[in-house]
Amino acid sequence: MSEKRPEHPIDFKKNQEITLTIDDLGTNGEGIGHREGCVFFVAGALPGEEVRVRIMKMKKRYGYARLLEIVTASSERVEPRCPAARPCGGCTLQHLSYEGQLAYKEKKIRDCLERIGGVNSRHIDWLPILGMENSSKEVSSEGTPSKEAPPWHYRNKAQFPVRRDKDGNPAAGFFAGHTHNIIPVASCAIQHPVINEVMKSVLDFMKEFGIEPYDEEHHRGLVRHLYVRRGYVTGQVMACLVLNGTSLPHVDKLIEALTKIDGMTSICLNVNKKQTNVILGKEMIPLWGPLFIEDNIGDIRYRISPQSFFQVNPKQTERLYDTVLSFADLTGTERVWDLYCGIGTISLFLASALKKGGQVTGVEIVPEAVENARENARINGIQNVSFLCGAAEDVAEEQGVDVIVVDPPRKGCDAALLDTMVRMGPERIVYVSCDPATLARDVKVLGEKGYRVEKVRGCDMFGQGSGVETVVLLGRKNTA
Ligand code: SAH
Repeated sequence: MSEKRPEHPIDFKKNQEITLTIDDLGTNGEGIGHREGCVFFVAGALPGEEVRVRIMKMKKRYGYARLLEIVTASSERVEPRCPAARPCGGCTLQHLSYEGQLAYKEKKIRDCLERIGGVNSRHIDWLPILGMENSSKEVSSEGTPSKEAPPWHYRNKAQFPVRRDKDGNPAAGFFAGHTHNIIPVASCAIQHPVINEVMKSVLDFMKEFGIEPYDEEHHRGLVRHLYVRRGYVTGQVMACLVLNGTSLPHVDKLIEALTKIDGMTSICLNVNKKQTNVILGKEMIPLWGPLFIEDNIGDIRYRISPQSFFQVNPKQTERLYDTVLSFADLTGTERVWDLYCGIGTISLFLASALKKGGQVTGVEIVPEAVENARENARINGIQNVSFLCGAAEDVAEEQGVDVIVVDPPRKGCDAALLDTMVRMGPERIVYVSCDPATLARDVKVLGEKGYRVEKVRGCDMFGQGSGVETVVLLGRKNTA
């Protein structure tokens, strides 16, 4: 088994303590430092900082190290609000000022588009990133602008794993980075407070009635996840318990407790008996109220089922969709396709702007989401829209399309779909992406097939985390 150790100029070893100067932030917000030809990744460290670290894992030319001490702190460093910020791994940038977070995200988009996408950013219209509002309005007691990043309690959705904690009590929270050990979080700093309230209520119920949390190792126990959603405008709340089983003992008591919570609209169970990391199973069991909640974005009302995708930051979502609309530059008569349309959020936004006979076709793979989309068109009285259920790469096809909007999951567009989009020959493609790296990869392909990037705008949907949403406008080359 003994492999010959690769030669390093200096042979760094696991558990060795070294000092480093951090010079960059990686894709997930981790600090990056270089020493003797090796690269080290240090979660929690910031550019410009000198840090003492312990090497946890060493490969040939790179290693992962744990932050032990900040010898010289960055002026951008702030105190994280959440005690679990470091181990939880959800908010990988809580220790960075909000202005710093936005600069990091903007740079991440630019680096990806330039390095992977081959885009020359000087030749495009680059609009400043849309940061979460009041980002610089929080002022400290001395009257100086606070460096503390302000976007707290903005999320409208949580999926907390439920397990036993160290003392054997049911606990909900997060898995510690790359493990399935639970880190209990009594109150998550980025979730809406009512979501934390639901979590407490469910855990109290489980303790009182001895309901077993799931035990992954032995595939035993009952409650696997707690899934909660809240409508930002409507205040409607959905609580869904994901079970390794088909029924919940003392369910009446749970309903009694949950219905005391302000806005409670839908209580349901989801059955997931598989040994899998996928959170939701196929079967839903309604317990109280309808199997959906409703929310508004702008003037449009949306019905949202548990299985359907819905953006997690409702305030920023409206600004994101406004950007899509402005990039689409509609006159009212266009034929538009909205690929990966979810519950038809962007489709309906666009359709209601097409007042002169324009039409939208949405494509989505999850049947429940398509059902929501059709329902949403109906309840908003929007008729110039239709939805197709299927994989975008299989379903999209039409000539004479003016605008295509795509909003794929992290992995980006299927290669076959990029070909299809080009064949459909739209004047403009508006690409919405939650991963700048796959966006850039796809932009490169589209570039080779006749579309060039004209506009870019980042939008921060994930304050305190490292993720960022990007909207890119591509236009056909050689068109006036
Ligand atoms: N535009 C929507 C949804 C974006 S999320 C919104 O803003 O709310 C991406 C969506 O793509 C999800 O709803 C997911 O179910 C769907 N999806 C994933 N793979 C797909 C595929 N191959 N074809 C069509 N839709 C797909």
